[in-house]
Amino acid sequence: MKVLIADDDPVSLLFLENALEESGYEVLTATDGENAYDILSSDDAPMLAILDWMMPEMDGVSVCRKLRETVKDRYIYLIILTSRQETEFVVEAINAGADDFISKPYSVEELQARLRTGRRISQLEQDLRLKATHDSLTGLYNRGTILDILRSAMARHKRNSYPVSVIFADLDHFKQTNDRYGHQAGDDVLREVAARVKRVLRPYDSFGRYGGEELLIVLPECGDSGALAVAERVRAEIADQPVKSNGAEIKASLSLGVATADRMTPLQFDELISRADRALYRAKDKGRNCVMFATAD
Ligand code: GH3
Ligand code: MG
Ligand code: MG
Repeated sequence: MKVLIADDDPVSLLFLENALEESGYEVLTATDGENAYDILSSDDAPMLAILDWMMPEMDGVSVCRKLRETVKDRYIYLIILTSRQETEFVVEAINAGADDFISKPYSVEELQARLRTGRRISQLEQDLRLKATHDSLTGLYNRGTILDILRSAMARHKRNSYPVSVIFADLDHFKQTNDRYGHQAGDDVLREVAARVKRVLRPYDSFGRYGGEELLIVLPECGDSGALAVAERVRAEIADQPVKSNGAEIKASLSLGVATADRMTPLQFDELISRADRALYRAKDKGRNCVMFATAD
């Protein structure tokens, strides 16, 4: 597991770095608070950090405060290191968002024991977050998360007037699939469909399970013709090859409804969703395994 140590004293830093590397941690270091903040707020940052209180630029407690204000998508376990021991300082550090507080001089054994606690807590926190935001069957975002992603894409779209498109996709006659092959095979189809759809999307598109067999794709900065092309690729990716499950080859297909909010059609969140939903139902009416674009009705 990765851990960041931030200390402006090179001797303490090296001592701690060696001790933690010996116990199997992958250690990153910073010699001031600004640098510690930059590392901890970046992608793929460590989930554990030991921050010296007194550091140039930004002190350890200010790093805690700023991280708690700005990093909301994950939990970093923060330990403050200081020679101050009075209660008021402990309270200040904890109020700023520190999880633990170690007074100098400290024993390496004690620090390692506290790090183990931090490791356990940040792992639990990560698992909980994953459960709260993802669907356990497909590993996709769940309904709440994909709708939040759409909300923020639309807020950006308003600021920059970029288009935002959504695609609703629903498995055709999925009840029959379950009836004929069983629910486990149905689950295999859902998982395989999720994996295939992911393959055809761009890295900055998002994709979630809106309901039972209904999926929602969010395409930021993508206009109507681009979104229609993506929907058609998704349709073909599912319909062209049957899904293999337990020796059976199961035919699957999707009906898809596409809607776009752009300068010409500046739709609000609810309207964008309901137009795509109506377009999906038109695709069902038209005979399924097809794509329909939303209309203003
Ligand atoms: P249509 O083409 O009109 O969409 O027909 P349909 O049969 O897909 O639609 P309907 O709404 O009648 O049935 C949806 C089915 O999806 C029923 C439900 O059991 C199944 N389903 C929903 N979630 C899951 C799941 O997690 N696993 C499995 N195996 N089936 C699911
Ligand atoms: Mg210092
Ligand atoms: Mg269906």
